[in-house]
Amino acid sequence: MATDRILVVAESYAGKALPVSLELLTKARQLAGTVEAVTWGTPSDTAAVASQLAGFGATKIYSVGDLGAALPGVPVAAAIEALVQQSGPPDAILIPTTYDGRDIAGRLSVRLDRSVLTNVVGITSHDGALVSEHAIFGGSEVLKARFTGAAPAIFVVRAKSFAAEESADAGRAAPEVVTVDVPDTGPTNTGATNTATVTARHVEERTGPKLDEATVVVSGGRGLGEAGRYQLIEELAKLLHGAPGASRAIVDAGWVPYAYQVGQTGKTVKPTVYIAAGISGATQHMVGMKGSKNIVAINKDAEAPIFAIADLGIVGDVQKVLPKLIEALKARS
Ligand SMILES: Cc1cc2nc3c(=O)[nH]c(=O)nc-3n(C[C@H](O)[C@H](O)[C@H](O)COP(=O)(O)OP(=O)(O)OC[C@H]3O[C@@H](n4cnc5c(N)ncnc54)[C@H](O)[C@@H]3O)c2cc1C
Repeated sequence: MATDRILVVAESYAGKALPVSLELLTKARQLAGTVEAVTWGTPSDTAAVASQLAGFGATKIYSVGDLGAALPGVPVAAAIEALVQQSGPPDAILIPTTYDGRDIAGRLSVRLDRSVLTNVVGITSHDGALVSEHAIFGGSEVLKARFTGAAPAIFVVRAKSFAAEESADAGRAAPEVVTVDVPDTGPTNTGATNTATVTARHVEERTGPKLDEATVVVSGGRGLGEAGRYQLIEELAKLLHGAPGASRAIVDAGWVPYAYQVGQTGKTVKPTVYIAAGISGATQHMVGMKGSKNIVAINKDAEAPIFAIADLGIVGDVQKVLPKLIEALKARS
């Protein structure tokens, strides 16, 4: 049984597809002959997003429309169910591991009466069947799984599991955008479902690139000694045009916000250069950064586990190494 058609749930924000949506489309293109996407938003946002999705391989885009302040979970899951009933099930549905993606996946699983495989970090094709990979035990082991039941297979995939690459056919044909009606999802005044709304959006302030999109990430850990020294991490990141990150230890200690956390329960990053300063290298941290192209570790303990995956290891005190590094970079610029 070959994989013919994959549907990707493509999230966007303010008329821009999320990078994870483009990563999923790229993978879907490698696995199936036909790649379609389902998205939602205002008409102008949807038009902009549709052309981006087409550039990454979606030939048909289903638009659920403007959801206003509603959370997408209920309407998007209902629209996909209707789509599956109308045009038959795709072989697989790929959904990003985001708050909304997980909400959609859970509801879709119930609506279609199909299981969901979550925390997917890889998908391959074996004898025509899709095999998913899941990082377990803090990323130290990879488990493989496959669906044996009827289509569609629903996979919830972690960001940065695949690289996003534009399709060679990008821009050749205008995407076909099809409006999908959201079936009646029941009364909104019963408190049972579909009652949650977005009341406000808060955009985190930042001066440099986004942590999970930066080509250079400089992360600090408990080895910094105190919250005030995180400023060295920020200064170094700025000089390298990168983003500052953190281990969970210093997020939990309240030194930096959760948005900075790299790792199993934080962000997954794959920059060209990742600098870990005063970070021991717990598996839960490494699972979020070990895909980085070049890893530089600064730690005073030569036996620290982070050195096992570092391309360049500096055994030294962050309080001495970081100021020297900053000084050297300033001298060069
Ligand atoms: C379910 C679960 C999920 C988790 N998720 C995450 C996650 O997403 N991300 C994450 O990061 N962690 C996560 N953790 C926590 C993880 O297990 C570690 O506790 C954490 O990563 C440790 O952070 P750290 O390396 O900063 O601190 P530590 O482990 O305390 O390491 C500090 C390091 O600094 C070095 N050091 C000390 N002083 C200096 C100095 N002056 N100069 C240089 N080096 C120095 C020490 O040698 C040590 O290696 C998770 C844990 C669990 C159980």
